[in-house]
Amino acid sequence: MIKAQNFESLPTKEIAPAIHRSVSFRVPAETTGFSADTLDVDGQFFYSRWANPTTRCLEKELATLEGGEDALAFASGMAAVTGLFFTLLKSGDHLIAPSVCYPGVTEFLHGVLSRYDVEFSLVDMSEPGTVADALKNNTRAIFVETPANPILRLTDIAEIAQIANRAGVQLIVDSTFATPVATKPLSLGADYVVHSLTKYIGGHGDTLGGVVIGAGDAIQRLRQEAMVHLGAVLDSFPAWLILRSLVTLEPRMRSHSENATAVAKYLEEHSRIRKTIYPGLPSHPQFELAQRQMRISSGMIAFQADNPEALARRIADEAEMIAYAVSLGKPTSLIYYIPTKEIDEQCFRFSKSELEKYRMWAGDGMFRFSVGLEDPELVCNELDRLLSD
Ligand SMILES: *Cc1c(COP(=O)(O)O)cnc(C)c1O
Repeated sequence: MIKAQNFESLPTKEIAPAIHRSVSFRVPAETTGFSADTLDVDGQFFYSRWANPTTRCLEKELATLEGGEDALAFASGMAAVTGLFFTLLKSGDHLIAPSVCYPGVTEFLHGVLSRYDVEFSLVDMSEPGTVADALKNNTRAIFVETPANPILRLTDIAEIAQIANRAGVQLIVDSTFATPVATKPLSLGADYVVHSLTKYIGGHGDTLGGVVIGAGDAIQRLRQEAMVHLGAVLDSFPAWLILRSLVTLEPRMRSHSENATAVAKYLEEHSRIRKTIYPGLPSHPQFELAQRQMRISSGMIAFQADNPEALARRIADEAEMIAYAVSLGKPTSLIYYIPTKEIDEQCFRFSKSELEKYRMWAGDGMFRFSVGLEDPELVCNELDRLLSD
């Protein structure tokens, strides 16, 4: 259970965090815009693009949760990832990233970072040998996402951390699907953990947010470069909403995980479901790694079904409890169909061998299922109706 500890020392003695709306703060006369770049954000607030008391409180709580020294909150998960990339990478550098991950990241690499003359290799992170082979003299960072959107392929963080450390490159782990309740990447050797706070950590489907957690000096540099200059600040109101969500993160995650386990078992038995992938099922191709690396199995399931387009339409038109929608980690169950051809052409741009591997998990297409906090029996009843004639 998270102990909200960073506001209890305020003179007001409040036991819940306040929303600080002030954009600027009184400062001593010797402060200049330049010296503000190196301000101790805990000793002196200056302007809310640098730091804000409510957002700062969230950052400290998230750092504590992940066992990191410090954290920096962003306006979205994509802002966190791209802010980190722009800070760590310069023209001529090389990045190793997953062939399968949150599609926005791959789209950013293909469409934007490539224009800044940053090279990247997209590899299957579940094969550590492939990652080691992709290293070059100019490799600066390895970016990993586990479990990976949308097929729930896992990456052995400790193993990749060894490869990264030996080569002297930074390891970044997007742990959005796992949350710190399941996995603590920093304790396994990662240098940075990234979350889309929009998902499980925010947990209510009512705010976007992102965070990077890491060493104190690294976060200080990130604040100066990615926050002060790129400016994707998390405002104090969403920061306060997410602070509130942290109080229930652990019990929510336990429920998501228990419910997803029940629903995954149901799907695995259903005659119209061709394949069910869930890290908590022994049938997951990396079940042993899941057991080792994830304290709970989280709430995401991927499955293949007979006649998927018709099923997608039926969920969108007829489902009452389950919403046909993107995103994940909400109190309500969400399902979205991801056809292989489209995601390959529009986002991943697989090599021939990577496409073959993706098809082994996803076939022609896969449903991504974010199991909510509803009674899993009711969710299975609805699935029963949607899967019947
Ligand atoms: C959603 C998501 C992101 C992007 O986060 P936003 O808050 O939507 O910008 C990044 N990584 C993963 C794994 C995600 O699921």
